[in-house]
Amino acid sequence: MQLYCESLTNYKRLPTKEVKIGDLLLGNFHPIRVQTMTTTDTMDTLATVEQSIRCIEAGSELIRITAPSKKEAENLLNIKNELRKRGYTTPIIADIHFTPNAAEIAARIIEKVRVNPGNYVDKKKFEQIDYTDAEYAEEIDRIRERFTPLVKICKEYGTAMRIGTNHGSLSDRIMSRYGDTPMGMVESAMEFLRIARGETYHNIILSMKSSNPQVMVQAYRLLIKTMFDEFGEIYPLHLGVTEAGDGEDGRIKSAVGIGTLLEDGIGDTIRVSLTEDPEFEIPVCKDLVERYSQIDGKTGRPEDALINNETALGLTDFPTSRLSYSPFEYKRRQTFSVHNIGGTNVPVVIADISKIEKITPADLQSIGYTYDEGTDKWTIGDAAADYIFTGHQLLDFALPGTLKVIVYPAAWAEAVDKTKYFPIYSDSGYAEAAKSEQLNFVMIDCFNDSTPINDYTHLSTLANDETVVLCLSSTNRNAMQSVRRMFTALMNQQMKNPVVLMTDSSWQTPDEHLIHFATETGALFLEGMGDGICLGYSRTSGLQNIQTTGRTYLEVKDIYQFTNNTAFSILQATRTRISKTEYISCPSCGRTLFDLQETTGKIRAVTNHVKGVKIAIMGCIVNGPGEMADADFGYVGSGPGKITLYKGKEVMKRNVNSEVAVEELINLIKDNGAWVEA
Ligand code: SF4
Repeated sequence: MQLYCESLTNYKRLPTKEVKIGDLLLGNFHPIRVQTMTTTDTMDTLATVEQSIRCIEAGSELIRITAPSKKEAENLLNIKNELRKRGYTTPIIADIHFTPNAAEIAARIIEKVRVNPGNYVDKKKFEQIDYTDAEYAEEIDRIRERFTPLVKICKEYGTAMRIGTNHGSLSDRIMSRYGDTPMGMVESAMEFLRIARGETYHNIILSMKSSNPQVMVQAYRLLIKTMFDEFGEIYPLHLGVTEAGDGEDGRIKSAVGIGTLLEDGIGDTIRVSLTEDPEFEIPVCKDLVERYSQIDGKTGRPEDALINNETALGLTDFPTSRLSYSPFEYKRRQTFSVHNIGGTNVPVVIADISKIEKITPADLQSIGYTYDEGTDKWTIGDAAADYIFTGHQLLDFALPGTLKVIVYPAAWAEAVDKTKYFPIYSDSGYAEAAKSEQLNFVMIDCFNDSTPINDYTHLSTLANDETVVLCLSSTNRNAMQSVRRMFTALMNQQMKNPVVLMTDSSWQTPDEHLIHFATETGALFLEGMGDGICLGYSRTSGLQNIQTTGRTYLEVKDIYQFTNNTAFSILQATRTRISKTEYISCPSCGRTLFDLQETTGKIRAVTNHVKGVKIAIMGCIVNGPGEMADADFGYVGSGPGKITLYKGKEVMKRNVNSEVAVEELINLIKDNGAWVEA
């Protein structure tokens, strides 16, 4: 193993133990299983059965159902029987929080239980308690006493278990010792895992979810390392980003977190948590998994069509001692700044509009600039691209003040205003070229890089040139890994040039493109690598007007707008550049006390201009406050028709009538000085 995965340079699945859930095998190189969770009231047997069937028909291989108390746990039998009667044998998972009694009932009925170590035995009061070692050990004994009966039942009935830690619901005990950290999440699961192993029970899956992909990725990596160091083996992993939200943002956030781990061969089952009907989560899961389904068979991704030499597929590995960053914590790679790129500047967005034959002011509307002919003024949106790439084209109109143009060298030579136009070169062409005194872009393809990791001397001339921004791309099957390998080399050689990530997609549907971009670039931004982003397509034929039956795709009216929004959303999801309001909305479940999709839409409509503010919309008061993690404001269902409003973790307005709750939320944001007028 290389620190936390099989290989840092080539796609290889992480070997994990095999777990049996009913008749389904998971882990140990079995296909990555996809799953979802029902949102119906568990006591409504028929509605739950019918929704489960819709999910199964969509491809869900496991169905999770909430069991908040004993009566719901008991009703799982009726749900299971009805599903079996209708010919569906898909394993069922009971989702348990706070109630060991419900877990012990469910474990005798269905194939798997999910417990949250943050609230299985511990009550969360958000209290800071200083435990002595003896007191802490006593607490562990108390957990052992309460948790062991469930382990024994699972062992006896052949029931599987997920120990599912959530960033937002760590116990006060864990928080007091480890803080709200990835290590706290790991230790929270490890305490339960050690107890289960002590009972020689191994039918276990683990998860480390967070609504922040950065925290989530670090926690999974740390968990793998901790398990391997302690036990010499790794239990299968269930991947997910909690409360990801809906639409493009929800998909991007999920793809950044889940995709980053899948890229390194990590993950045995995934769930994408969207604030949408659960059956809509399955196609997203499938798109995420599909990327890797043929790699072991060496047929690879669509990009592989470009590769006809088998030896070109692999990248030369390097010892982890040469790794120049820590994969367990976020630290942005140190760079000097060139113009507004690198240094402490937020990553820039470059829009590739070179395929537009004759660019006009109206074309810039798609990337955030609206021109008013009457006043001859530009209005600049929050998600306005910083640069455009126009290929060989010089523009015949005055540009908005903040926008710059990247062109090929011949066009740059012709450009009059050298403060607006900057050249882009291939790495081999740069040395001899006429150069901008301010800013030069140099493209490097990391496609088939077999250079020893510490021997990139051929790049040293660029290293000393403080006008050079590197543009890294790769057509290798292991594209992300090959670019990451190049970053490692740059860091080892103390090359501090800023880097723009240039990612092309040859996938077909909008959803596939979105996932590709989010995975390939998100994985690098989460490592602190990247000072800019530029997304492009090898083919765009599938982006608009997709004609298929039985599946809904993201609607793309304008390719350039779609691409620009995707770039900004990736930066937002990786928390490297905040350009809009962030919504942390739970996917809803049988505990939900209001229509989450409708309410999220309502809140989004009136707050989507409050840039940088994180608003949580949570279905229930039992889990909501814990799970909303680092939100600035929370809108939480606290009873039928009642909403409790939070500022951080603090209750500000209790049991507000739901009819006025959105207005009260706005007032709360205003009272705290975070509001801006639209
Ligand atoms: S926060 Fe949402 S998904 Fe989580 S238990 Fe409550 S209602 Fe269900």
